[in-house]
Amino acid sequence: MTVSSTDLIHHAYTPPPGFVAPQPGVFKASTVFFPNVAAMRDFEWKDKSAYTYGLHGTPTTYMLEERLCTLEGGLQCLLVPSGLAAIATVSLALLNSGDEVLIPDNVYGPNKALAEGELMHWGISHQFYDALNPHDLAAKISPKTRLVWLEAAGSVTLEFPDLLEQVRICHAAGVLCALDNTWGAGLAFAPFDLQPGSKTPLAVDISIHALTKYPNGGGDVLMGSVITRDEALHMRLKLCHMRLGLGVAANDVEAVLRGLPSLKLRYAAHDEATRALAHWCQTRAEFAQVLHPALANSPGHRHWQVLCTGEPGSAAGLFSVMFKPEYSQTQVDAFCDGLKLFEIGYSWGGPVSLVMPYALDSMRPAWPEHLARGTLVRFSIGLEAVEDLRADLAAALAAMA
Ligand SMILES: *Cc1c(COP(=O)(O)O)cnc(C)c1O
Repeated sequence: MTVSSTDLIHHAYTPPPGFVAPQPGVFKASTVFFPNVAAMRDFEWKDKSAYTYGLHGTPTTYMLEERLCTLEGGLQCLLVPSGLAAIATVSLALLNSGDEVLIPDNVYGPNKALAEGELMHWGISHQFYDALNPHDLAAKISPKTRLVWLEAAGSVTLEFPDLLEQVRICHAAGVLCALDNTWGAGLAFAPFDLQPGSKTPLAVDISIHALTKYPNGGGDVLMGSVITRDEALHMRLKLCHMRLGLGVAANDVEAVLRGLPSLKLRYAAHDEATRALAHWCQTRAEFAQVLHPALANSPGHRHWQVLCTGEPGSAAGLFSVMFKPEYSQTQVDAFCDGLKLFEIGYSWGGPVSLVMPYALDSMRPAWPEHLARGTLVRFSIGLEAVEDLRADLAAALAAMA
């Protein structure tokens, strides 16, 4: 007689408890067993006191949520399958037909696309405000405004807004503000810094984070988080999250949990190398402008200085250059193709340096006054040796000319 399939499923052995190792165990489940019917009926879904279904939390997801709250200074966290899903969860949870959402003009592109697509189809209007002019934000807030998106620094063009003033304006108007905190990663500045007497009492209502970038750090996982400090607001978001069925895979959560211990060291290393390369680019004649919030003449530099410490570890690994108009798109493309260490690819936060040309005139209704004319290329600096990256840039510039 061979073994019964029942014995293979309902096995008597359980390993001894007390296994402790550097990385937490990974719990995977759709189904979760209840000890009895009463426990099933009593289940409290609002907190992390028990388990009901894989979609609604496992020890693995609870652990990452709590660690991310510590990172960003929040109290409640939701995990979603991508950074963009975090943006969508916030907009879908908080906006109804007839409402309006305000979005910075330099926002992460897909946030804009969601507003122009589904949100518009559902009768939710949007306006873009000048990220560098808080008066413009204040003027655009109306009785219809239900949500203001904030982003620091802006995607691609890296302007650093007066975040403190933007948040003050939103709160004075009684409008919720949600920050896309992917660039700051919880490290460059504290989005929920509520300590009395702190240098920057910034207090956004919601912080979303593309964990895809620095927290994971490998360029191989997509995930996002939505963090709050207000229980009622969290519940609105959590109910929408539940109804949409947004879940994350345990192995992906494990990858982010493995990334977190080295997050601060990696972020500082990306930052240091990026500043060195941005400074070097400023010495090159090919560029009309170098965009990085720590550079004195970069748009919004003084706001970055107020909020961030200035030390390594207070800026991310991104900078952009504006090639002078005398360089054709073909030449700029050849420069990107000529790089050997920089790969051509979207996203950032991983070990490999990336380059991407952007067509700014298709991203903005008009060319922003604070940007030089030319062709924009964005770099994401990885963890390679900075001398090698500098030599690669120099060789590709020489080959282009
Ligand atoms: C990458 C990114 C996102 C989206 O993250 P995904 O996980 O790629 O969906 C959102 N905001 C910013 C600023 C980003 O850079």
